[in-house]
Amino acid sequence: MKSKSLKLMCILAHPDDESLATGGILAKYAAAGVQTYLVMATRGERGWTGPVQDYPGPQALGRLREAELRAAAHVLRLREVIFLDYQDGDLDQADPTEGVGKIAAQIRRLRPEVIVTLDPTGIYGHPDHIAISQLATSAVLAAADPNYFIPTGDLPHRTAKLYYRTFVPAEQAAYEAAFGPLTMAVDGFERRFTAWPQWAITTRIDTSAYWEQVWQAIECHCSQLPGYQKLKALPDDYYANLWGTQTFYRAMSLVNGGREVEQDLFAGLRDLAQPPMLFYLAQSLVGDMS
Ligand SMILES: [Zn+2]
Repeated sequence: MKSKSLKLMCILAHPDDESLATGGILAKYAAAGVQTYLVMATRGERGWTGPVQDYPGPQALGRLREAELRAAAHVLRLREVIFLDYQDGDLDQADPTEGVGKIAAQIRRLRPEVIVTLDPTGIYGHPDHIAISQLATSAVLAAADPNYFIPTGDLPHRTAKLYYRTFVPAEQAAYEAAFGPLTMAVDGFERRFTAWPQWAITTRIDTSAYWEQVWQAIECHCSQLPGYQKLKALPDDYYANLWGTQTFYRAMSLVNGGREVEQDLFAGLRDLAQPPMLFYLAQSLVGDMS
């Protein structure tokens, strides 16, 4: 597998999203030699799980959670973590032009073939998750547009594939067995965990060999662990559902399509990493002319 030059970028909202939602693919593709990058919108400054009176404040918690994320990134063998410096809970009120520009700048600098973000329902309607999905999708378009200007000096970059991480009913069952119904009240409405139907899944990645590494990454998020231990305590039956497979919706692809379910986020790109003979011929012709 010639994957040395391939790059995967995850664009997510909170420290721990990377391990819980995409830990399996980050570990798997890093092990296969893919360069993996993480763009993180916030430092999770409002994610305090201890007694209210002990909350250290947003800045101190943000520093702590950044350190936890960097430890998890080391476990997952990420090449680089980039923070966008938004406040936890405020991402859907951020200036969208600025947000798209910040992400597009990273896409143009790092030039990934594949980008993964959260699905447009925000897993359970979390406004930050929905916002990062929208901002990342827009940034993929902006980064490719030669008329879109950001003062970084990097050339436009056309990302070949964009995926939404989808959660399926089996994962919902596992999470709700641990935590009870996952809901969130927003604007007077109760939002619930929204599992994707099996038929809508375009891509299934076998991550079963990496669950111990993923769990090690999750355990780096010490400030959040009281909740996660419930996941670890689930009966074995749930383990395969939680860690065995990660599923995705291929929102955009310039290299493949159709109904066949993919087993590789880089499907359609592997051949491009090994250019056909015609490519070499064309190159040598150009070389002769210059
Ligand atoms: Zn999150």
